[in-house]
Amino acid sequence: MSSEAPEPFTEQDYADRMQRAALDASAAGLAGLLIAPGPDMVWLCGYQPTAITERLTLLVLAPDAQPRLLVPALERPDAEGAPGAPVLRLTDWRDGQDPYAAAAGLLRPNARYGVSDAAWALHLLGLQEALPMTSYRALTTALPMLRAVKDEHELARLAAAGSAADATYEEIRSVRFAGRRETDVAADLARLLLEHGHEQVDFTVVGSGPNGANPHHEAGDRVIQDGDMVVLDFGGLKDGYGSDTTRTVHVGEPTREERRVHDIVREAQQAAFEAVRPGVACQVIDRVARAVIEKAGYGDHFIHRTGHGIGVTTHEPPYMVEGEEQELVPGMCFSIEPGIYLPGRFGVRIEDIVTCTQDAGRRLNDTDREMALVT
Ligand code: ZN
Ligand code: ZN
Ligand code: ZN
Repeated sequence: MSSEAPEPFTEQDYADRMQRAALDASAAGLAGLLIAPGPDMVWLCGYQPTAITERLTLLVLAPDAQPRLLVPALERPDAEGAPGAPVLRLTDWRDGQDPYAAAAGLLRPNARYGVSDAAWALHLLGLQEALPMTSYRALTTALPMLRAVKDEHELARLAAAGSAADATYEEIRSVRFAGRRETDVAADLARLLLEHGHEQVDFTVVGSGPNGANPHHEAGDRVIQDGDMVVLDFGGLKDGYGSDTTRTVHVGEPTREERRVHDIVREAQQAAFEAVRPGVACQVIDRVARAVIEKAGYGDHFIHRTGHGIGVTTHEPPYMVEGEEQELVPGMCFSIEPGIYLPGRFGVRIEDIVTCTQDAGRRLNDTDREMALVT
């Protein structure tokens, strides 16, 4: 069951994004942006090389110039087919030529550029050698909010990805847990995400019993037992936009303590959600969730930030973390995912993707957050 594909982004969408990025770069004191293949390139011009390799591909954006795309000559036909290509001026280099000399010809010799996080060190070092007087800043440092505010078409895609993740959760609740390995349930999650229209599965965390106390546990050979808490955290990309949701279920009847810990996390998640509105600093969202867990006496066991942005990747700025003073803006999309992790015993995490509207938060995941009992 996969829903209808959304309207593709237009040439104008890509032109607007590239122009805004160049102007933002200029406002940040940069001569322009250098974008290697990866999520920023996809977002800016719709181009993704078939394979990301040692051959240099580079999008060059500057406020006063047409966007340039430098490509290996053999990949030029692919690049010409990208949806944003009509807006770009293409240049190519051939095997045997120096790609960094070719790139240097598109840049100013003694300026400062923002460079996309996905650029390989090989390429950045090659550019540095070709233009020793030019300096670079990471895009996440220089322009962290470049992709953070989503337009209505992006929001629709994120909402559809969220709905597909929700449908996956509704179905996973009825599979057998007890007696099966975590990896078996993880495979079920991956299959369901694909069935519900995802083209890419990024993670399928199944943290049963003590494994749930490790927020980075993916899924392993442990056989799930009756009485286990099980953290299910899964997501990927649907029509190019991310999903990421977590529910913690229990196999059979939970203990009082397990219920209490789950209730606290749910209360923390709800409180943080209710704090979402334009102008609130990201760190406040983290503080609100943390205050609930600290008050209940589990502060030492909430060992990660409260959330992260989501868009064409499943983890990106803005981060809901102490020290992040960036204020929420309508159109931002991010996770709210507090947790409590009791080493050697169990963990609980509850996560929804939320968007900031004109006056509040809106959940893009909305399955029941009560602890589901599974078999
Ligand atoms: Zn239990
Ligand atoms: Zn997650
Ligand atoms: Zn997340």
